Amino acid sequence: MTKKYDLHIHSIYSRDSSLKPEIILKIAKKRGLNGIAVTDHDSIKGGVMTSKLNKDKDFEVIVGSEIKTKHCEVLGYYLQEKIKSKDLLEVLDKIKEQGGISVIAHPFTIIPRLNLRYPLSEIKGKVDGLEALNGRAVFPFENKKAFDAAKKYKLAMTGSSDSHSRIEVGRAFTLFNGELRTAIAKRKTRAEGLIRYSKIGRIWTLHYKLYRLFF
Ligand SMILES: [Zn+2]
Ligand SMILES: [Zn+2]
Repeated sequence: MTKKYDLHIHSIYSRDSSLKPEIILKIAKKRGLNGIAVTDHDSIKGGVMTSKLNKDKDFEVIVGSEIKTKHCEVLGYYLQEKIKSKDLLEVLDKIKEQGGISVIAHPFTIIPRLNLRYPLSEIKGKVDGLEALNGRAVFPFENKKAFDAAKKYKLAMTGSSDSHSRIEVGRAFTLFNGELRTAIAKRKTRAEGLIRYSKIGRIWTLHYKLYRLFF
């Protein structure tokens, strides 16, 4: 059976998301996903809370985090504790030390300071994958470049929504057979989904951030 996971979802433990763990679970299942990773900004709280709430053995919740480094944002999966370092190489090492998996989030986004500003050729042996389809991409070429780079450097490809709101959950996803860990190790994952209307998510975040400032 091919499994479908959305590997990049922010919960209320990210300041820019309104998604409560129980809502994430409910929507993810309704949209036919077999698993998710909750990846809050520099925190694993959302992942821990969502995984505690999940009682369904046929649905996997991965405790993750989106870690901001000086050179890019890294998605860490299967984490035991929060990673505090801001140094890319150190973050990749810390993820590995915890037995986790590392994926560079939206490596070629046009948004400054969120893209990868480090030569991939130098970290290809340290990182497991590239987010080849980020549901919040502004233009399709951002994802196309990530897809090509994953192929070139023989890295796993992941697809994920980067959800901060309800409408986004499950819009982009990773397809694989068996266990996610093994599929990533063997580079046997596929990234699929949509970026149509991806701007709605961004506009929504902007409004939500303003709302949080005043209320
Ligand atoms: Zn990000
Ligand atoms: Zn994100």
